[in-house]
Amino acid sequence: MRRPTMDDSPAPKPWIESIHAYVPGKSAGGDGKPLVKLSANENPLGCSPAVLAALGKVASPNNYPDPDANALRAAIGAKHGIDPARIVCGTGSGELLHCAVQAYAGIGDEVLFSRFSFSLYPLLAHKVGATPVMGADDDYAASVDNLLAAVTERTKVVLLDNPNNPVGTWLPASEVARLHAGLPSEVLLVLDQAYAEFLPEGVDDGGFELAQCHANVVVMRTFSKAYGIAGERVGWATGAPPLVDMINRLRGAFNVTSHGQAAALAAIGDAEWVAHCRAENAAARTNFAAAMDALGNHGIRILPSETNFVLVLFEGALSAEAAMDAIFAAGYAVRHLPGQDLPHALRITIGTRDDMDAVATAIRKAAEQAG
Ligand SMILES: *Cc1c(COP(=O)(O)O)cnc(C)c1O
Repeated sequence: MRRPTMDDSPAPKPWIESIHAYVPGKSAGGDGKPLVKLSANENPLGCSPAVLAALGKVASPNNYPDPDANALRAAIGAKHGIDPARIVCGTGSGELLHCAVQAYAGIGDEVLFSRFSFSLYPLLAHKVGATPVMGADDDYAASVDNLLAAVTERTKVVLLDNPNNPVGTWLPASEVARLHAGLPSEVLLVLDQAYAEFLPEGVDDGGFELAQCHANVVVMRTFSKAYGIAGERVGWATGAPPLVDMINRLRGAFNVTSHGQAAALAAIGDAEWVAHCRAENAAARTNFAAAMDALGNHGIRILPSETNFVLVLFEGALSAEAAMDAIFAAGYAVRHLPGQDLPHALRITIGTRDDMDAVATAIRKAAEQAG
């Protein structure tokens, strides 16, 4: 018998081999010292006390969870006025984004998104053998005209994170409607609303209505950000029944754990907590933006944000790397995204007001030293 050699090892699909693993936000410095994490857009206030109480009551880990998360889908439907039959839950919205791309794009197809978008998007396209295509930005923000100009016959899925990560900007309902109206009806429009809860109360981008009325729109939401239960991995999607059906076929069979379902159910029941987080976030973000605006003479610029993070541009003597080192030294981890064509920027999650004062001070001192 022939001895096995390295040449006999299984050959991964070439489009899979070219993928790099998703790079999560840092939580420790080079010396391993723990840092306050302002690098993953987590909720600095934690989660609703109702969530912790509900988690304590989840019984029988020996039993599988409800495979269809029925109670949770009913609660989501009641809150947003959506038929639960048009809702599917996922292991975070990340799983659902993957399913949507997998169902509608493959080898030879194009998946389109704005140049500065969620870093997961190109990975989703590569995973299914499709080509990621980026529409040019408009001062970092997504541009409907540029996205529409980038549509070809091969475009199968358009991904719009609105509000956007890592920029923080937001397209209003009129622009989202214009994007949808300009797309061929056979192109799937995915509206990723991971940060929607941070928009002012009552403001939205009209995504739910588009998903209700059209056969080619799916809206994604998550419990990871404003609801503060990223560790429980719960997200959901809504769209026309055939779209939800496709996602249901592709998702994991028991994708949302018993704890995840219980936590999300309790979280959605505590609207006051989310309102509190939204208000705290907006106040801390406004203060921090003012502190950065005051550093304009150092070539520092903050982009407008509707989210729980901000993108700060370093276009003067102080580089983003040097600013990050100063922020690290003050005990905070933030996100540098050179791999996303943003070597001159830092994405900083909005922490508590004290956190943000400390980060602003570190940046100001470093900027003054750099001249
Ligand atoms: C955080 C985030 C998500 C949600 O991820 P989960 O898998 O639900 O934790 C989705 N889209 C964007 C743009 C995000 O920033």
